[in-house]
Amino acid sequence: MRQLELYNSLNRKKEIFTPINEGHIGLYVCGPTVYSNVHLGNCRTFVSFDVIYRHLTYLGYKVRYVRNITDVGHLEGDADSGAEDKISKKARLEQLEPMEIVQTYTNGFHQIMDILNAKRPNIEPRATGHIVEQIEMVQEILDNGYAYEKNGSVYFDTLKLAQSGKGYGKLSGRVIEDLISESRDNLKNQSEKNHPSDFAIWIKAAPEHIMRWNSPWSVGFPGWHLECSVMSTKYLGKTFDIHGGGNDLKFPHHENEIAQNVGSCDCQPANYWLHTNMLLMNGKKMSKSDNNSITPQELFTGESEHTSKAYSPMVVRFFMLQSHYRSTLDLTDEGLIAAEKGYKRLMEAFKNLNGLTATATSSDSDLEKEIITLIEATHADMNDDFNTPKALARLFELVNKINGLKDGHLDIAHVSTSALDGLKSLFNDYIFDVFGLLDSTSDSGNGNGVLDGLMSLIIDIRKSARENKDWGTSDKIRDSLNELKIQLKDGKDGTSWTAD
Ligand SMILES: [Zn+2]
Repeated sequence: MRQLELYNSLNRKKEIFTPINEGHIGLYVCGPTVYSNVHLGNCRTFVSFDVIYRHLTYLGYKVRYVRNITDVGHLEGDADSGAEDKISKKARLEQLEPMEIVQTYTNGFHQIMDILNAKRPNIEPRATGHIVEQIEMVQEILDNGYAYEKNGSVYFDTLKLAQSGKGYGKLSGRVIEDLISESRDNLKNQSEKNHPSDFAIWIKAAPEHIMRWNSPWSVGFPGWHLECSVMSTKYLGKTFDIHGGGNDLKFPHHENEIAQNVGSCDCQPANYWLHTNMLLMNGKKMSKSDNNSITPQELFTGESEHTSKAYSPMVVRFFMLQSHYRSTLDLTDEGLIAAEKGYKRLMEAFKNLNGLTATATSSDSDLEKEIITLIEATHADMNDDFNTPKALARLFELVNKINGLKDGHLDIAHVSTSALDGLKSLFNDYIFDVFGLLDSTSDSGNGNGVLDGLMSLIIDIRKSARENKDWGTSDKIRDSLNELKIQLKDGKDGTSWTAD
């Protein structure tokens, strides 16, 4: 079988994957900042890494998957000082405790991930749960001479790191001179810094800042980039296998993460860096202000002017699988309609396949050879940097064979029992375990399990919308369920549903 190759953003090329410890993989993915509902673009990133995690597990690796929750330090506009913390700001506007904001949107994030059948990570650490370790890392960086303190804040000395020969800017391909000119305009706000590309690793809290901790330098809070350096080191070791995240995190977040790890222990955090590309809508960047955006909930309920109907979460997941994680994915109504057809066709074929029985103990027919070649090609495509669109295309070539065998165009006598068994395992393993799809096309075999599951998830979404006083979403859910002749009933023990 083809060896697993990954496109390593750090070296800008595909490389054969070699784990640090044979049979084991440490995987760290930057999680959400929980100050608002999860965006569909973020869903795409996390579904991509879910497939990557599932495939690595399928290959037999024991994967420790760590995905953090950012609940402090991520400032407005991704600034590293002089701006308000996103969670503090939301807490101030809503007159809630910051941890209420964090809990609400963490719950919402989990619900959407569950609906999309993305597996939970093995460890989901929070930045506020690791303040002590972050203070320790700031101290290590200071002790090694790669940071300096000014008026209670601590800044990372990027110039010193660059001049030490250890490098700064490799991941994002930026050179320090570019950074100087880019940020010269912003220097007015960054007067504490020795150099414009330096960044804060500890920030002294302004009097109105509510999230604050004692430290040797000031009462303050950690810089946004620090948590990922600290938590990946704590749970996966100083150098681990794979670090992932959205493309938009390459700079400054991941670049600064590398700088911090090099600055504290003189080691590269990850051997392989994987980055997912953007989700577009109708060929353009999603943007609320341009009225070119859709929420996951709107996609599932059909209550958006951008779509003609509701799409099940599994259709959305299938749609995402149709493009490679490093390519942009353009969300369109036509694309979703096509994905719905494709998804149904795949699930039908799976049922047809399970109804087939072969009796030939061996066969040297062309059909037999084609089936075996396609099975091998599917594995090879997934080992080629997780090429889900290519692997799906192979499955659809096999769907044609399966349907031909079912309707008698092709002769089952030309297929051996071992080839048919191989085909059955391939479909079962890839559809459900690797691609993570569920069969939501019918209730057969599942009783009403899938429908019950989906309804309880929809009720959960509505509940959290109501808790957030998002009456628009909660009304939309009720109204569109009514159109499907499903009634919700709110009672003392929660919400129940009935269907006509
Ligand atoms: Zn991160």
